[in-house]
Amino acid sequence: MLSVSNLDVRYGQFRAVQGVSMNIDQGDIVSLIGANGAGKSTLLRAIAGALPIHSGRVSFKQHDVTTTSSSARVKQGLSLVPEGRRLFADMTVEENLLLGTTVKRSGDWSIERIFATFPNLVKRRHAKTGNLSGGEQQATAIGRALMSNPDCLILDEVSLGLSPLVVDQVYASIDSLKDAGTTILLVEQDLERAIRFSHRAICMLEGKIVLDKLTSDTNKEEITHAYFGLQ
Ligand code: ATP
Repeated sequence: MLSVSNLDVRYGQFRAVQGVSMNIDQGDIVSLIGANGAGKSTLLRAIAGALPIHSGRVSFKQHDVTTTSSSARVKQGLSLVPEGRRLFADMTVEENLLLGTTVKRSGDWSIERIFATFPNLVKRRHAKTGNLSGGEQQATAIGRALMSNPDCLILDEVSLGLSPLVVDQVYASIDSLKDAGTTILLVEQDLERAIRFSHRAICMLEGKIVLDKLTSDTNKEEITHAYFGLQ
């Protein structure tokens, strides 16, 4: 489904992502783990086409998309929910969701299905997103990405700034996407949740992948070692 080979992404001279390679199959749920500054957001943004890459290759559904625009990648079925949600605060939940249909793809997602998936949004349908709670904003941002009917959904730190209860609610909603066969790549700082929720854990340290294992073949201790670069 998604393949990254030997990817380098730089900010000026600084190599934020260094020689990263990974393959994600259809229906895989993959958690990307790593300390602040490890390069997770940079990698996700480069995969989604939101950042130019220095060298290497990204392919999606057997097509080379390395130099394809982010909107063309959305059209091919690859959608990113960026860190910080990036909603239009003066627009309502419904208006923000409709923005997700700017790039048209056929599929089963509709406004009504988004509200069925995130029931707490129903009463907020006509509220401006700037007035919503963090959990409601996150649900709106995920809903907006789903409106493009992605085959692969990339989520950057869905839990950021949310209370544990709200994180559980957001994850319960994402969980329902697994059954729909959506491929998911997400950044998760909570190792236990990452192990519980995903099939695979990939850990980054200083721009490189230092662990890539099925969650059934690893444990919190091993991931923690990789996270801190311990031997
Ligand atoms: P976080 O969890 O803090 O978001 P991260 O693992 O997602 O961390 P990135 O945000 O990808 O890490 O950052 C990787 C490195 O690139 C960091 O050293 C960061 O300071 C640097 N960096 C990120 N964005 C820029 C930028 N726009 N210009 C210069 N350097 C940047």
